[in-house]
Amino acid sequence: MGLVIVGASLAGLRAAESARRSGWDGEITLIGAEEHLPYDRPPLSKAQLDSGAADALVPLKSRAELDELAITTLLGNPATGLDTSGRRVLLGEAQVPYDALVIATGATPFRLPGADGLTGVTGLRTHAEAVAVRRALDAGARTVVIGAGFIGSEIASAARKRGLPATIVERLEVPLSRSLGPEPGEICANLHRAAGTDLRLGVGVSGLESAGGRVTGVVLDDGTTLPADLVVVGIGVRPATGWLEGSPVALHDGDRGVLCTASLATSVPGVWAAGDVAHFPNSRFDGDLMRLEHWTNAAEQGALAARNALAGPGEETAILDTIPYFWSDWYDHRLQFVGTPRADEVVTLGPRGPGAIVLYRRGSQLAGVLTIDRPRDIMKFRRLVMEPGSWEEALFQATERTAATV
Ligand SMILES: Cc1cc2nc3c(=O)[nH]c(=O)nc-3n(C[C@H](O)[C@H](O)[C@H](O)COP(=O)(O)OP(=O)(O)OC[C@H]3O[C@@H](n4cnc5c(N)ncnc54)[C@H](O)[C@@H]3O)c2cc1C
Repeated sequence: MGLVIVGASLAGLRAAESARRSGWDGEITLIGAEEHLPYDRPPLSKAQLDSGAADALVPLKSRAELDELAITTLLGNPATGLDTSGRRVLLGEAQVPYDALVIATGATPFRLPGADGLTGVTGLRTHAEAVAVRRALDAGARTVVIGAGFIGSEIASAARKRGLPATIVERLEVPLSRSLGPEPGEICANLHRAAGTDLRLGVGVSGLESAGGRVTGVVLDDGTTLPADLVVVGIGVRPATGWLEGSPVALHDGDRGVLCTASLATSVPGVWAAGDVAHFPNSRFDGDLMRLEHWTNAAEQGALAARNALAGPGEETAILDTIPYFWSDWYDHRLQFVGTPRADEVVTLGPRGPGAIVLYRRGSQLAGVLTIDRPRDIMKFRRLVMEPGSWEEALFQATERTAATV
């Protein structure tokens, strides 16, 4: 019995560590679908695509460190079901009983219909996929990325860094305009253009061409065919909750992520969730229901879910009122975002490119900030989002900072 965590990646590992750190001396079992010890994903679309990067995977914690924390791992063992009345996780024929359970199964990329089994077509979520992408780049692949999201943009950037041709195909007229707004989206588009990435906007993909089981091209809705040796599909992810279907754990009607309270409790007593799989109401942003796909959130939520899962009877659970934060590295630029882009108004200050500060207003307050190449400023704005600072104050600070660097 004891604490069982399903999903052996960032959120799951942080859950296990924080359980031990908070004094839990019972059993901890970490169940993972992948064969590997937990490892970090952000480098998969960054340093691990550089030429000369090692194939070897560097885990977030070594086997020895996990042993020292007395964490039992069941790797290469996907959970197939959940019996909440018997408090058991099902692994095919096997069962793992629990007193408290943390769900940390993250998310799985959407696939392109008809692409299964075709060499040269991949998503990028796992270490094996990163190795495949890097090897294709090493071989000088003409790269087409489908979807102009953050990870897709990093892959185009890796290709251009090597001087290889890279094209991004995006259904929206302006990349990231739904998540960041039209003007910041245009700034992002210009980062691509300046680096020589060919952006095909407002067009979808109607199919792939192949020869001998290997992709040779991407056919667009407008009839164009883009020659390609490597096609990376970055059209979003779905929470990995197939194994929970049929269980009483309440899932989101839309994307089937796990619905949680602000303390990360699910609808079933004793079952908690954390990381990319979890929806939670964020009290800092009017209780907005959020499901974040950000490294810092997965780490924080994993730790909190385990502490709450192990709270004794009558002990209060803590709530998560985090300020979302993520970063992304494109070409030689660092994009950083704090807060929420769900806003009443979006204002860009400074250059419409590197050095820009984009402010997001909700009511009379600062709700979010995007910066490009301003790693020191973003932390100051994070404090302002946290306070939360007034819109006037945010405008004043952003004006001062951008003026100082013009
Ligand atoms: C290529 C890439 C680059 C990224 N770059 C950035 C970045 O620059 N900045 C940033 O903020 N964030 C970035 N992220 C996002 C960040 O890595 C994720 O938010 C984080 O990994 C989420 O952690 P998680 O533990 O919730 O889920 P995941 O990391 O998805 O892990 C879930 C684990 O659960 C396992 N699993 C799934 N189903 C089952 C099952 N049924 N049974 C057992 N195990 C199961 C999966 O195999 C996986 O190992 C990036 C992500 C990727 C993929």
